[in-house]
Amino acid sequence: LKLSEGLAKTREQIAARIDGLLSSHDKMDEDFWEELEEILIMADVGFEPAGKLLAQLKNRARKAGVTEPSGFKEILREELAQIFRAPRTIKAVNPPEVVMIVGVNGVGKTTTIAKLAYRAQMQGRKVLIAAGDTFRAAAIEQLQIWANRVGASFFSKGESADPAAVAFEAMERCLAEGCDLMLLDTAGRLHTKANLMEELKKIERVLGKKHPGAPHRTILVVDATTGQNALSQTKLFNEAVGVDEIVLTKLDGTAKGGVVVGIALEHSIPITFVGLGEKMEDLRPFSGEDFAKALLA
Ligand code: GDP
Repeated sequence: LKLSEGLAKTREQIAARIDGLLSSHDKMDEDFWEELEEILIMADVGFEPAGKLLAQLKNRARKAGVTEPSGFKEILREELAQIFRAPRTIKAVNPPEVVMIVGVNGVGKTTTIAKLAYRAQMQGRKVLIAAGDTFRAAAIEQLQIWANRVGASFFSKGESADPAAVAFEAMERCLAEGCDLMLLDTAGRLHTKANLMEELKKIERVLGKKHPGAPHRTILVVDATTGQNALSQTKLFNEAVGVDEIVLTKLDGTAKGGVVVGIALEHSIPITFVGLGEKMEDLRPFSGEDFAKALLA
């Protein structure tokens, strides 16, 4: 599936309404902007982000001297491309690279780890997957099945083990095996923010003791089909541990893809990949330009 195919439903949701808006207005007047705001909110951009986007679009249109609806799509395309140009900090990494994967249960965290492992293995990197979500025996099993399927090493201490101990010992294994990339799964039950923070901070502390600088990145996995929940989860995890990158899953078949715009507007965290299916190949690098093009095609 291509990004443009995955976005078909979201496009139907947004594009048809925008076309309706453009054909029913001669001028970009207050009524035009109000109707546009409604369209954005309906498309799951989110209430506050929609207001922000509206102000930015007005500003861009004013600067470009665009007052007629015929020029609006170009303004929107440019603004969307701009929004997704989040600064990406490239940190120097002392190998092996360690990536911590966080996110709520059910968002597609296990599948995304498998997809990331598959990608890295295809690029010739040796991957170790560590089962740090020790609350769900089924999740550990599932992760092991995926590790075998993609040809990655796998480390687990079983259910109920201390996640920080898993992280520490997996790190030892990774160093001993000479792996290039360690992907660490973490618990996804949404308990209190304080608990979550404590658990993840402990993992970070312990990892850093074994391998200075680790974890090098924290990737948050959110589910596009949950719309506004994806937005609130981003806020929660970013406040709790700091999120370096976002992977947005299940963009295939959902009409709620507008949430990707909301996330980019509210947080300057780069969205690096999107999930477009259940198979290990179904992960696509995300580009704002492609998104804007696919959405407004
Ligand atoms: P976890 O609980 O967060 O680890 O979630 P899983 O990785 O087990 O995924 C939950 C369900 O979502 C599974 O049925 C996956 O096949 C499915 N899934 C994960 N990512 C995607 C995606 O990008 N697209 C679609 N359509 N399904 C996905």
